[in-house]
Amino acid sequence: MHDILVIGAGIAGLTVAIKAAENGKSVLLLTKGAKPDGSTNYAQGGIASVTSPEDSFESHIADTLEAGDGLCKKRQVEILTKNAPQAIEQLIRWGVNFTTVKDDENSFDLHLEGGHSFRRILHTADLTGKEIMRALLAKLKRHSQEIDFIERSTVLDLLIQKSHCIGAVVAEQNAKKARTVYAKTVVLATGGAGRLWLHSTNPPDACGEGISIAYRAGAALQDLEFMQFHPTSLYAPQLKKTFLISEAVRGFGGILKNHKGEEFMNEVHPLRSLAPRDIVARAILREMQLTGKDYMYLDVTHRKAKDIKTHFPNIYAKCLECKIDITKDWIPVVPAAHYMCGGVLVDSYSRTTIKGLYACGEISATGVHGANRLASNSLLESVVFALRACEDIEKLSTPKKLSTLNSQLSTLSKVNFSRQKKEVQTIMWEHCGIVRSIEGLKIGLEKLMKFGKVDDFEFRNFLESAKLVVECALKRKESRGLQCLTDYPEKNPRCLKHYTIKKHSESVA
Ligand SMILES: Cc1cc2nc3c(=O)[nH]c(=O)nc-3n(C[C@H](O)[C@H](O)[C@H](O)COP(=O)(O)OP(=O)(O)OC[C@H]3O[C@@H](n4cnc5c(N)ncnc54)[C@H](O)[C@@H]3O)c2cc1C
Repeated sequence: MHDILVIGAGIAGLTVAIKAAENGKSVLLLTKGAKPDGSTNYAQGGIASVTSPEDSFESHIADTLEAGDGLCKKRQVEILTKNAPQAIEQLIRWGVNFTTVKDDENSFDLHLEGGHSFRRILHTADLTGKEIMRALLAKLKRHSQEIDFIERSTVLDLLIQKSHCIGAVVAEQNAKKARTVYAKTVVLATGGAGRLWLHSTNPPDACGEGISIAYRAGAALQDLEFMQFHPTSLYAPQLKKTFLISEAVRGFGGILKNHKGEEFMNEVHPLRSLAPRDIVARAILREMQLTGKDYMYLDVTHRKAKDIKTHFPNIYAKCLECKIDITKDWIPVVPAAHYMCGGVLVDSYSRTTIKGLYACGEISATGVHGANRLASNSLLESVVFALRACEDIEKLSTPKKLSTLNSQLSTLSKVNFSRQKKEVQTIMWEHCGIVRSIEGLKIGLEKLMKFGKVDDFEFRNFLESAKLVVECALKRKESRGLQCLTDYPEKNPRCLKHYTIKKHSESVA
């Protein structure tokens, strides 16, 4: 038995594993794919923290609360922002290299992003997530004594005994049967749920499985209705992985156009193509519906080719791979599911409502994002609250001895569920997408129910997570932050609360 089982090897899971190993704990770290398979690796923009003398915690707090549209948990936001400099220091101690100002190695090159009042985004060019994963995986290697890292191991369920989480049921690649693993403490760090939707910026493993796994174990879930859609992902069906066209391209002067070249944002918002993310996402979708097209365009061809290539070397190269020369061609873009603000409810030390079970990173609902996430607060949330989980685990007295469970382990099916997954993703896109209606959500839920009882564990988790998101969206009868309902277009002060979903019976895998 390990001291800690960590499920997921993105920034949150790796932070827990490394810190716990430094504290002398034995760790079993499992990941569904082969490293680095989570969203962390794709983060381009950066990580927010007050580091410059002109900036202040008060300002970072105010910006976060403003984005969250009335629903942020203020105490959690204070913890997030005030612990940010320490989290950054920790990452640097673990080997992360953030871009510094030319000729001054001691000053970070801080970026400004939408919704932030000051330059406070630390980054590593436009590949921040890659650099973080590089450094953390290198650090992980140095702790091979304390950390057993097993890739291609999918957790299907949690093991619960006497209301205490004691391990998990795992399917290893090519295994015929699932197996159980036990630990004194379990940390869920399975990342986001973007892949429940047809169009998503997330990597293939971000299917929100942690949602249904935690729910079945009896953990409370919160704020699942708040899925942030990024307005501009590259429309390139030939690509296996979707590709994000960073917000910085609009900041650089990119203009959104329809297929006739009309600048449709002009009538939508005074900031036109530079309007906030959710407004742009809704406007693109509306234009797609009006014109019957599968995508719109982002045009930067009026900028000098040399400048485009200098500022966006990655985006330029990726588009060229898809035969789009962005110095000459308009970029086809489509909004895509990007970031899940809600998830498994946790407190200020990442404790879920189940003893022995913590949740960190995008799968957790810390309440810092409220109804909408402020850009670059999510990598930060992952590190700050993962470190707090470790702090809390350190304080735990040795748990009373728990016996292993005599559970019937299931035979794993080898059926490929990609067609059914696509159906679920289409339902989510059409009925629980950027703009919703109560009727549409109900139809979506009915369609999801029609799949009936599913025997395959991975597809069951995928489907159940989708249903739970729709159920949460049905609870909030107002438009606030990322929840946009045509039948309730205004905010309702009576809905100024968090909706929680919890299964009442205790589940044993
Ligand atoms: C394209 C893109 C750009 C982004 N840019 C930024 C940015 O600039 N700044 C910012 O703050 N945020 C950004 N985000 C969001 C941010 O990257 C994520 O919120 C963050 O990386 C989540 O980290 P995580 O550790 O929770 O999850 P992940 O990094 O997604 O890792 C999850 C891990 O869990 C594993 N897993 C999943 N299910 C199972 C299972 N059933 N069993 C076992 N393992 C499982 C996965 O294999 C993976 O290893 C971006 C996201 C995307 C997709």
